[in-house]
Amino acid sequence: MFCRNCGKKLIGSPEICLNCGAKPLAGTNFCNGCGASTTPLTEICVKCGIRLAKAIEVSPKSRLAVTLLSVLPGCFGIAGVHRFYLGKIGTGIAMLLTLGGLGIWTLIDFIFAVSGRMKDKEDKVIENW
Ligand SMILES: [Zn+2]
Ligand SMILES: [Zn+2]
Repeated sequence: MFCRNCGKKLIGSPEICLNCGAKPLAGTNFCNGCGASTTPLTEICVKCGIRLAKAIEVSPKSRLAVTLLSVLPGCFGIAGVHRFYLGKIGTGIAMLLTLGGLGIWTLIDFIFAVSGRMKDKEDKVIENW
C-alpha cells in the first residue's frame, strides 16, 4: 500500500507511516492502492480504479463509558442509556420501549461497544477507552 499522506510505498499495512509519521490512511493526497495523487474529494482513484480508503474518525467519547452504560442499566431493566450518551436519542427511546429488543439488541450493542465498533451520532467510532 501507499501512504495517503506522503505517497511513499509502505510494506504491509502499518499503523504509522515510517516516512511522514502520519496514519497512512488518514491522508487524502495519494491513492493507497497505486500512489497516484488524489484530492480530498476523490472517492475512486482514476488510475487504478479502487475505492479510496476513508480515514476512520475516532469519537472523543469514552469506550469504557459506552460499554458500562450499555450493560449496567440493563441489569435493572433499563436499556438504551448508552445511546442517549452517544446522542442517538431516537434509537435510545426505541431501545427503552422495547427493553433493548428483549435484551438481544442490548447484547449486540454491548459487543459492538466493547470491541470498539460502536459509533456516535456523527458516525465516529468509539475507540478510545
Ligand atoms: Zn507518509
Ligand atoms: Zn490508485
